[in-house]
Amino acid sequence: MLRTAFTILFLSLTILTAFLPVQPLQASELESVSLQLDWKFQFEYAGFIIAKEKGFYEAEGLDVTLLEYQPGVDTVADVLSQQTNYGIHNSSLVISNKKIEPTVLLATYFQHSPLVFITQKNITSPSELVGKTIMGTTDELKYSSLALTLKHFGINNENSTIIEHSFNIQDFIDGKVDAMSGFLSNQIFELNKRGINYNIIHPAQYGFFMSAVNLFTSKDEVRQHPQRAQRFLKASNAGWEYALDHPTETIQLIHDHYAPDKSIEALTFEATITEEMFVRGLYPVGAVNGELTKRTYKQLLMHQIIDEDEHPTPFLLDELIDNRRTWTGFSDEEIDYLLKKEKITMCVDPNWMPFEEIKDDIHYGIAADYMTLFQQKLPVPIELVKTASWTESIIKAQRRECDIYSLAASTPARRKYMDFTTPYITLPVVIATTNDKIYIESVEDILTEKIGIVQGYAIAEALRFKYPHANIVEVASITDGLQKVESGELYCYIDNLMVIAEQIQKQFTGTIKVSGRIKDEVKLAIGTRNDEPLLNSIFHKLIPTVAPDEKQAIYNRWVSVNQEMAFDYHLFWTLFGVFALISGFYAVHFHQLNKYNRMLLKLSETDKLTDLYNRCKLDELLLEKEQLFYRYQTACGVAILDIDHFKQINDSYGHQTGDSVLIELSKLMTESLRTTDVIGRWGGEEFLIIAPNSDTQETTIMAEKMLERIRSHRFQKIGALTASCGVCSFNDGKDIQNTIRLADEALYKAKSLGRDQVVTLP
Ligand code: GH3
Ligand code: MG
Ligand code: MG
Repeated sequence: MLRTAFTILFLSLTILTAFLPVQPLQASELESVSLQLDWKFQFEYAGFIIAKEKGFYEAEGLDVTLLEYQPGVDTVADVLSQQTNYGIHNSSLVISNKKIEPTVLLATYFQHSPLVFITQKNITSPSELVGKTIMGTTDELKYSSLALTLKHFGINNENSTIIEHSFNIQDFIDGKVDAMSGFLSNQIFELNKRGINYNIIHPAQYGFFMSAVNLFTSKDEVRQHPQRAQRFLKASNAGWEYALDHPTETIQLIHDHYAPDKSIEALTFEATITEEMFVRGLYPVGAVNGELTKRTYKQLLMHQIIDEDEHPTPFLLDELIDNRRTWTGFSDEEIDYLLKKEKITMCVDPNWMPFEEIKDDIHYGIAADYMTLFQQKLPVPIELVKTASWTESIIKAQRRECDIYSLAASTPARRKYMDFTTPYITLPVVIATTNDKIYIESVEDILTEKIGIVQGYAIAEALRFKYPHANIVEVASITDGLQKVESGELYCYIDNLMVIAEQIQKQFTGTIKVSGRIKDEVKLAIGTRNDEPLLNSIFHKLIPTVAPDEKQAIYNRWVSVNQEMAFDYHLFWTLFGVFALISGFYAVHFHQLNKYNRMLLKLSETDKLTDLYNRCKLDELLLEKEQLFYRYQTACGVAILDIDHFKQINDSYGHQTGDSVLIELSKLMTESLRTTDVIGRWGGEEFLIIAPNSDTQETTIMAEKMLERIRSHRFQKIGALTASCGVCSFNDGKDIQNTIRLADEALYKAKSLGRDQVVTLP
């Protein structure tokens, strides 16, 4: 068997290169795919037959079934429904019911179509077909170059008899039909052999060029298996090259194994015409001809064979695959998810300027601008779900009527149905009162007063959690809240600095002021429905793609200060400084508050015992580093250090000594640290070191040095001490969680290997 022969050849080649006995791939290891042909086995499919028989498909990991045409088979429907993977079509554009089907053209083999009208001797031009009986297949008579020819010459069902193809050449010989469709490469041979007279009407002579033997597939196949489609194409092209270069061998093979009814003579005739149709001098085998397709499209449009509003979507494999490449570092899984999703529905706060609003059904504001930037990097549209209030948006999100929140804080309640990305806007939260009120040092001082917060806002959830007895009054909107403060109905209104500043400037100048700040910051992120977790990783990747200057431009656009308004610009811009994460505090009016805030900030970031950064700050820094890594591929190492047998120190010397060891060690480590490295307390007696711009190796060296410093130090009371360390670094495809998890695993390994050592995991 040829197949076996080739397997042996394939084998020996592999052995030659690898010097190792290699087993050919077993059928079970191959991916099974099918190709639906649009006719019976003949030389027209020589390339596919060769690719199968000579193992070209097998070499690409494919087990291909070639499906011969059977009456009733609808190739296009079968391919689109993925019942078969690939199909052959006579036109590069697949049309049905006047619509272009969403197929993907993989290759065109016959650059010229051999499809013609074979007519009785007396008929020499298409116009003479009026009143005659014409036989063809439904598709040919509807969408092919033959259809265009008939349309062009005004030949239709009303003035002629158009009948379905009987595939019986005898009907033509007997004069039952005046014209029939046929391939130059097939029926002609039979007629010549029998000495029958005929004429040929070739559509190309009238300007209707089309291709034939177009290999196509569905967009779903390309989405789900882009590499497979490429491999199938590669092997098919190779099959065709071989078939055309070795016609005698190929003809014999087709005759012996596929089409015993076809004589060698008939196949040879077909092979000669096929070679002509390939026009190999002009086109590489399989080349798709975009220009020809455009021309076909225009002709079909002109002859009203397709609807006016039909436009070809990207339909070439390369176009689709190139599109994928431009999408921001998404994994194949993420892209497949997106393409299947088709659109992302988005709920927003319709009344929250300058962040966002819905006006005349359009989304405006900072979040809207971010979304526009994200949209450019997404292959599917983000669609606004219109709501009248934030509460309505929340309800819709809970009911899964929207896939994302454009901008929302992560809260436990929301996390029940949403995942949240890294925050992309961080804001201080302030307390607004009327001008006559005094400075509020802490929200605890006003817990008995009526505090207004917009219904459903995350701050309310956080405050209620912390102060269950707080007198929180839900208001409909920020204006509602501030008006109630103005009228005395509420003591104060709490919201983030940006929106309050905007409102003071717009309509509460002279009556409302910022009287204090609460400890919490609002961290605003994109919420994504948690039953579709890929959505979260997609937006997580999009956030760091917005460059700092793009961010600045967005803020400048929406946080403009109206010059005519009586407004304290200094205060505002100082406040804005906080927002822009530059420095921290809105000084000027509230020196006291300023100082207090500094203290607060320090407190919120540091660990009380060791004075190192606390876990919270470390998380924030890690996020920052992760973003830098995703955006600029900036390396960053992470080391987790854990004191060895610390429990024994506590047990032998007491907890207080344990504490002082922690303090002494923290000081020692801070002194030993390189200037760019950051250390914090990760947990009890565990420390995390972040080493920016360091790869795994550099971080390991740093960690080794650190352990040496600890080893050689003599601690008060307890003397010698050792620690173990796990090292890892940010790497492609690893998010923070993964990196930390690996560093943790490394630490665990260091412990199990006997402690006092560094273990690094890639
Ligand atoms: P090893 O890590 O080498 O496996 O042994 P270990 O004895 O250090 O084990 P483990 O990490 O499980 O125990 C850590 C101990 O550190 C437990 C806890 O009592 C103690 N610890 C955690 N935080 C503090 C702290 O703030 N002060 C004091 N004094 N002890 C603490
Ligand atoms: Mg520990
Ligand atoms: Mg320990």
